[in-house]
Amino acid sequence: MNQDRLFYFTRLRLALWYTAVMGVILSLCGFALYRAMDRAHWLAVDRELNSVAGTLHDSIELRLQQPERLEPILQELLPDLCAVNSYCIDRKSNVQRHIAGVVNQGGYYVRLLDNSHQLMAIAGDYPPGLTPVSQQEPWQTLKDDRGQLYHQLSLALHTQDNRSWGYMQIGRSLADLDGHLEALQWILGLGLPIAILLVGGASWWLAGLAMQPIYLSYKQIQQFTADAAHELRTPLAAIRATVESTLRMSRLPETEARGILETIERQNLRLTELVADLLLLSRLERQPIERQHQLCCSNDIVSDLVEELAALAIASEIELELEVRSPQPVIVKGNQEQLYRLVSNLIVNAIQYTPTGGKVSVILDRRDEQAIVQVRDTGMGIALEEQPRIFDRFYRVKSDRSRHTGGSGLGLSIALAIAKTHHGKLEVQSILGKGSTFSLRLPLIKPEFDDLTT
Ligand code: ADP
Repeated sequence: MNQDRLFYFTRLRLALWYTAVMGVILSLCGFALYRAMDRAHWLAVDRELNSVAGTLHDSIELRLQQPERLEPILQELLPDLCAVNSYCIDRKSNVQRHIAGVVNQGGYYVRLLDNSHQLMAIAGDYPPGLTPVSQQEPWQTLKDDRGQLYHQLSLALHTQDNRSWGYMQIGRSLADLDGHLEALQWILGLGLPIAILLVGGASWWLAGLAMQPIYLSYKQIQQFTADAAHELRTPLAAIRATVESTLRMSRLPETEARGILETIERQNLRLTELVADLLLLSRLERQPIERQHQLCCSNDIVSDLVEELAALAIASEIELELEVRSPQPVIVKGNQEQLYRLVSNLIVNAIQYTPTGGKVSVILDRRDEQAIVQVRDTGMGIALEEQPRIFDRFYRVKSDRSRHTGGSGLGLSIALAIAKTHHGKLEVQSILGKGSTFSLRLPLIKPEFDDLTT
């Protein structure tokens, strides 16, 4: 329960970290996007203002004759030009209305100033409360009465004989730019929290996925520790009970002493085997040292084992047969001792879990670049739901029966671990009450090696 809470909080912490990191990244991206848009808008405004001001300036300057005089050409180009002393030039007739067309669009204004920077006339959408005095810088950003921003460019005007006429200021409202940026602020301001919420949900899910294998392996280790302790406790308790009852005896006849020592030796042997199996398993699970692998002839392995285990089969009144289907020797690369252990575990199991009068067949074949060893029995079989679990450490399908056979539940896990270190596969097919077939597939070595060994 405590561990479950630990995993829950670790998952939560992981999800929060993911969300925080993603939140910072998204915020930085949002800020960079905002700055980029802001800059792009300003560049566009500057370019537009520059182009309009340049065209107007060039068209006016070519025709100016007297300094500081509002000449008719100005009226032609700027139809709504209005002098400061309320003298407004006729807004109609003009020949180059297209030049002033842009200026007549909403948001643009033109101001004409004399050489002492005094306002002489205005045209266009002139905002109220805008400072009438020119400053020295050509580019300025001004504010009107309502707080609306304007961007303005000032250019000097000259007469045809190159005397200073005065100044022209052309300005543009920044309302549309502000509108765009405000909309962007809204999008980012609303979008960012929504995105962070979504990232939070996704992080929780991803953290769960990432933790799953760790959680499973943690549970397996927990189970393994409990099972190992249980397995070790049984022989240790038996030894302790034997020793305690012996110590209580005042006299110990030799025959009885021998019997007691034999019991202790048996339990000791069981413990030693168990520890050796556990050590082998942990060694197999570490990186396999493939340099130690040598060429092994599967034919020798199966025939030796069938010969060795014939006595056990006879004692159990089971028919044990070997069927070699491949005409050529089946050579694999591996650790001979471990391969013997693997196949031996399968045959011993088949004999143990097959009732008297049954049959165990060991079949050797080669197919699709693979060596195949099958151990088939007509025994008790394994229920479908148990089949994936029989390869787990200490797992026994029917504990009573397995305990009776002396098994510890490590045989198949060792067999599977050996198969894996040899890049092979170990699978089971079984029908309850009819029998089981364990199939081991190992990669065959390349044909040139094959030839060498034949
Ligand atoms: P054990 O040492 O108990 O035999 P194994 O790991 O070798 O442990 O096998 C795990 C379990 O799988 C056994 O307890 C047994 O119930 C089942 N099993 C293994 N081989 C066979 C088989 N050939 N037929 C039926 N059941 C089997």
